Amino acid sequence: MGAELCEIKPTSWERRIDRDDALAEFDSKPCDVWVSLPTSMPSPLAVRTRPRDRGDFLWTQYSDIVVTDRARQLLEQEHVKGVEFRPALVALPHMPSTRSAPLWQLVVTGFGGFAASGTNISVRESCRTCGVFSYTVDARFADMIDEKKLDGTDLFIVWPYPLYVVVTERFREVVSNAGLTGVAFESLHHVEPISGSASPGLPSRWLSAAAQTRLLQDPDYQKVISST
Ligand SMILES: [Zn+2]
Repeated sequence: MGAELCEIKPTSWERRIDRDDALAEFDSKPCDVWVSLPTSMPSPLAVRTRPRDRGDFLWTQYSDIVVTDRARQLLEQEHVKGVEFRPALVALPHMPSTRSAPLWQLVVTGFGGFAASGTNISVRESCRTCGVFSYTVDARFADMIDEKKLDGTDLFIVWPYPLYVVVTERFREVVSNAGLTGVAFESLHHVEPISGSASPGLPSRWLSAAAQTRLLQDPDYQKVISST
């Protein structure tokens, strides 16, 4: 696996902003395991910011990524691949915010497939009503990435870890050269090994239609879900 890949993270976990789901539209399905599961992203993503929130990248407590207009413009100008931007709704009108510029939800559209062949992963629970799977995993995150499955994007996720956003060296250079703040880079080789369960929810919550098709057709995915 290429050493140039990194996971992106907030620079400070304490400063995560609140998500206000009361303002968002959710589609959901009934589920035997979790009562109900979202089938799509919250839209629009509504967030509460405070005057002390700083940075071009802001992160909600659920790890949604929100960026400033400056960051969006730069990433678009540089034709960074694997991302799209949706207007975020900035709530908390009774508190004066230092932000006058709009904020954008950064949605990762790049997809690196299901965890690579050889990953120690098995189905933990499955739901007959909605079709969701949760998994038991004992593996290094870097080993879940199969270069043959990458789609040439600069930001991508690997199933079943939609909250681990992997970026290329090119993304890191674009962000670093422009001095964008609020985002830290961790080499995949330094990401803590994963031992436990993964409950990513329904693929439609995270993946584009094309990526969902790729997941369903991924032989590593088919092998894991058929061995339940
Ligand atoms: Zn279910």
